Amino acid sequence: MSASASASSHASAHSRFSRLRRYIGLLLVINLLVGIGVAAYSILSARERNLQMEGQRLRTLAIALRENADGVFAGAELALRDLRRQVEAGGGLAGQGATGVHLMMRRALANLPPHFSFFITDARGRLAAHSVSDPAPDVDLADRPYFTRLRASAGDEVFLNGLTRARATGEWTFYLALPVREPHGSFDGTIAIVIQHSYFEAFYRQLGLETDSSINLIKTDGALLARIPFREEDVRAEVATHPGFRQAVADRRGYLTTAASAFTGNPRVVGFDRSERYPFLATASQGLGPALSAWWETTVRTAALVIGGMLIFLAMGAYLLWQLRRLETATYETVHDALTGLHNRRGFDRIAAEEWQRARRERQALSLLMIDVDDFKNYNDLYGHLAGDQCLRRVARAIERALKRPADFSARYGGEEFVCLLANTDAEGAREVAQAIVTAMRRKEIPHGGSRAADIVTVSVGGATWEPGDAGTLSDLVAAADAALYEAKAEGRDRVCYWVRDASPDSAARNHRPA
Ligand code: GH3
Ligand code: MG
Ligand code: MG
Repeated sequence: MSASASASSHASAHSRFSRLRRYIGLLLVINLLVGIGVAAYSILSARERNLQMEGQRLRTLAIALRENADGVFAGAELALRDLRRQVEAGGGLAGQGATGVHLMMRRALANLPPHFSFFITDARGRLAAHSVSDPAPDVDLADRPYFTRLRASAGDEVFLNGLTRARATGEWTFYLALPVREPHGSFDGTIAIVIQHSYFEAFYRQLGLETDSSINLIKTDGALLARIPFREEDVRAEVATHPGFRQAVADRRGYLTTAASAFTGNPRVVGFDRSERYPFLATASQGLGPALSAWWETTVRTAALVIGGMLIFLAMGAYLLWQLRRLETATYETVHDALTGLHNRRGFDRIAAEEWQRARRERQALSLLMIDVDDFKNYNDLYGHLAGDQCLRRVARAIERALKRPADFSARYGGEEFVCLLANTDAEGAREVAQAIVTAMRRKEIPHGGSRAADIVTVSVGGATWEPGDAGTLSDLVAAADAALYEAKAEGRDRVCYWVRDASPDSAARNHRPA
């Protein structure tokens, strides 16, 4: 069998195995992709659910904090308006004097928590009276936002002043401020109720927040009112322009995730609720890491399961492929000859039967060559069995090389006999191939002292051709080639003998005779 014929005839079995291997590979890949896809989907959707749960929890907390702050602010506003009414009724600072106002403030504080205090400024923004001390320290507050705003405004809205360090006490505070007016309505200064940051800080601490959590009360213009954990630099944080904050102000109530907190720069989940009464919103937030810790745990478990499953699946696939490889080797060995690598008799029988059917179906000529080494018994006797084996291998190579077409096929028929099957080849073509084999053997010039034909190893070839329309079976074709080989031997070996068609068509055997 030629190299190409070997490839093509072996290919039928080999390609079936390759196809099977590809199917198994494809199955493995599809399964892995589906596994990875399903795992990724469930992991991502679990993350979404986890975020949703955390967001809703934080939103609920924010609602409670907003409600609490609303209540505190409303109580403070009520106390402030009441105090202002008293101050205005008594003729203002001018009528009462700083000490009179201070005493009014002390009385008003009796009903409020210790973190609250009052102060009043005159129309120029100087601190005039303070509930903490009398006389009040001499402090200029004309530049404070509440002062400039209230002086410019004609309304009576309470102004929420963001967190500042009080110039009088040095404490972090924010205030609710109202304008003070003279009886005819002109601006006479401002009055404010002060809430120490520590008031909300203490309350928020009691809530016992989880790791990396924070709470904020922030004015809708971005000014900080209260926060835990509180650091002084938080007061200067750029909150107003933060996209998450702007979204919270617009959405009023809900939760969101932000890639970078305005205060810490860390990714966070934020629940928020905006007050309807005062211009602020309450937020409760947690770092994305801790917020997703439950998800992370399930993800690790899911990933471990999926990876484990995939490894088992891959191992099964690998085992299957390995078994397939063994089966292919075993299959190969059953139809191949170990000495020459050509197909053996069993392989020949199988492929010859297929080729025979194909030739009949496609109405193509099929030629068969029987090759026998001349006086090979003597060769063995002279040079030994091992040299005989080596010689057979060389004969096999010579036959292979003489076959040119991919469909040509050769086998070791038995002992020192070989056979070639030439599909779609008529007698003339087959005779050329046969002659090429005889010539190739001669060219090898393997010394053979015991041959009657020459002093080198030679072969005799018998050939026969089946043509469309011929009667007979594959066995008849083999018998005809065998008979032709017998003739070649009889005529002196080292030659080709071919059966040619006979005019009388009655029997397949008689359809040919040696030429
Ligand atoms: P002829 O020219 O008529 O064919 O003579 P021959 O001696 O070749 O014919 P015969 O059939 O009498 O002998 C074939 C010999 O081939 C017999 C055996 O010793 C040898 N033979 C068969 N198979 C093998 C093999 O696998 N290895 C070796 N070394 N020799 C083998
Ligand atoms: Mg023989
Ligand atoms: Mg022989």
